[in-house]
Amino acid sequence: MTAVLTVRAGGSVAGSCGKSCYDAEYKTCRCVCAGENHGVGFEQAVRNAQAMAEEWVLRARADGWAIDTFELGLPVVQHALF
Ligand SMILES: [Zn+2]
Repeated sequence: MTAVLTVRAGGSVAGSCGKSCYDAEYKTCRCVCAGENHGVGFEQAVRNAQAMAEEWVLRARADGWAIDTFELGLPVVQHALF
């Protein structure tokens, strides 16, 4: 599983932005990124998550998502080292 962002509520996963979002071609998604990663591909999804993940969480909370914590995916964290 290569999620770039995972959000949790009450200790369980409430949502994530992953391959089904950034590699999507046809269907619309209801994703914590609000579609900003939809179909953009992995590399761009990683860059987007680095730049915007906190903003996505704030917006999702404002939209009524119950989110206690969030974590960036390993590829996002690793890219941030370079
Ligand atoms: Zn997404």
